[in-house]
Amino acid sequence: MKMMLLDSDGMEDYLDPEKVIDEFESMTKDSKRVQEETLKRILQENSQAEYLQNLGLNGRTDLESFKARVPLVTHKDLEPFIHRIADGDTSPILTGQPITTISLSSGTTQGKPKFVPFNDALVESTMQIYRTSFAYRNREYPIGSGKALQFVYSSKQFKTKGGLAAGTATTNVFRSSQYKRTMKAMRSQCCSPDEVIFGPDFHQSLYCHLLCGLIFHEEVKFVSSTFAHSIIHAFRTFEQVWEELLTDIKEGVLTSRVTVPSIRTAMAKLLKPNHELADLIFRKCSGLRNWYGLIPVLFPNCKYIYGVMTGSMEPYLKKLRHYAADLPLISGDYGSSEGWIGANVNPKLPPELATYAVLPNIGYFEFIPVRGTEFFSGSDKIESTLLCVEPTPIGLTEVQLGIEYEIIVTNFAGLYRYRLGDVVKVVGFHNSTPELQFICRRNLLLTINIDKNTEKDLQLAVEAAAKPLARERLEVVEFTSQVDLSSEPGHYVIFWEMNGEAGEEVIRECCNCLDRSFIDAGYVSSRKVGGIGALELRVVKRGTFQKILDHYLGLGGAVSQFKTPRCIGPANGVVLQILSSNVVGSYFSTAF
Ligand code: AMP
Repeated sequence: MKMMLLDSDGMEDYLDPEKVIDEFESMTKDSKRVQEETLKRILQENSQAEYLQNLGLNGRTDLESFKARVPLVTHKDLEPFIHRIADGDTSPILTGQPITTISLSSGTTQGKPKFVPFNDALVESTMQIYRTSFAYRNREYPIGSGKALQFVYSSKQFKTKGGLAAGTATTNVFRSSQYKRTMKAMRSQCCSPDEVIFGPDFHQSLYCHLLCGLIFHEEVKFVSSTFAHSIIHAFRTFEQVWEELLTDIKEGVLTSRVTVPSIRTAMAKLLKPNHELADLIFRKCSGLRNWYGLIPVLFPNCKYIYGVMTGSMEPYLKKLRHYAADLPLISGDYGSSEGWIGANVNPKLPPELATYAVLPNIGYFEFIPVRGTEFFSGSDKIESTLLCVEPTPIGLTEVQLGIEYEIIVTNFAGLYRYRLGDVVKVVGFHNSTPELQFICRRNLLLTINIDKNTEKDLQLAVEAAAKPLARERLEVVEFTSQVDLSSEPGHYVIFWEMNGEAGEEVIRECCNCLDRSFIDAGYVSSRKVGGIGALELRVVKRGTFQKILDHYLGLGGAVSQFKTPRCIGPANGVVLQILSSNVVGSYFSTAF
């Protein structure tokens, strides 16, 4: 896949919404053929790669040979190859053209960031995804010209042992010139200067993003971040620092808290004393009740809020709606550091129902059936065991409505039949390409014996159990879980952080409610017979999850890609340590 370099006329054409939509419509009407051609191109371009040579593909590009010779793999299987690349081996290992950049996946599910190959093909597919969803979005919610308040941050960039640049995939994309040109042409230019986005200190960057948003408050047409978590984090911070921001605006001088010289210089160009603006925002904020509707109040021309809101981001929706009031919330697209999968081409759907239409030309996609709707009957959820012992993947156009699948990716960045680890559900079709709903990370299961609870089950249980807190005007701001097998029988431990102190009585009620809210038949029956011990709710100090975020940033992660780990496994000792040392109260359920 060659990187397109376009002049400004070419760029206009490349982004013309009608053309983009026509292109997508015709491609998705022919998904089967496009998939076959895409696989052929991937195998042709990389026929010299050692990985494919070793499998005896010998330049074959047909589907049968591919399926017969290329095994399903996980990241662990590819690690030796990726490490050789990172260590400076420039021979064609996974791809025909050597990989020169490495991405760090957020690794919040595994406990530590993973190395994955990054190349121009990924930048190109990122642009394709962005312009596709933008075209559909802009048709429903035209933004005209203006700016975007984007809470985006770069990770620390470093060199691998072999001298390759390494950073998170979002950072690698943000740095590319193609990205900047596309964003400009989409009139989605960030109101913050590059020095803020690429600043070395996340807290200082966040402060300046907020300041830039206020300076350009009338021009802001949408507020976004890669994952919705960053938007919530930003406006929670606004609640703390808004008066300081207004002082900066009034005096035209940046707070001494921002110390990075490049950020100070860049901000000095934007910041001029502006009493009127500071007074206006002061009046607006003073009129708010509990910050409800903060975003439209600050940014009167904002049309929508945009960022991934599904999967592990769903727990933030309630708070996001609080800040957004009536503004539409539109979920961002579906992808990963390893590559993109689908675009949100139905922007009018609320985030809970958001779907992602697979782009058939950015990779070759296969699906392993995991479970189907017939395995559920209302609240009486029957065993959700993964059905396939010997997985037999099927193609993109063979998937069936209502069935959940694990997704397998083959792409232009050196991944062949790679198990991404996500479970998706087919909820519709856009022409002949499936529209997927994100269900969960496959490995995020709370399980002790026959019980199986996914990230989604945990989220629903926490939501239900947090209801009594509303009486005290409190909410759960973050949560995670752990299976504790240190004593017999094992039990679930749920950690949660609240935005204030709740009374003993209420917490005990929440704890019992949590235990009862895991309705998986395996869990309920094991609890009843004592095969699983009483659920334990551990309340942690305010700011504990901020420490977890800081820990990931220290490992080279970026806030832009951060996802709170919802289940802490044994490999994640440091996070467990942070949680354990911040527990202020521990409660056992008496529900069974
Ligand atoms: P990372 O590579 O660290 O950015 O993480 C990628 C993972 O984030 C994916 O494999 C998904 O589990 C999750 N993810 C990405 N996009 C979405 C989305 N639109 N909805 C839900 N989860 C997502």
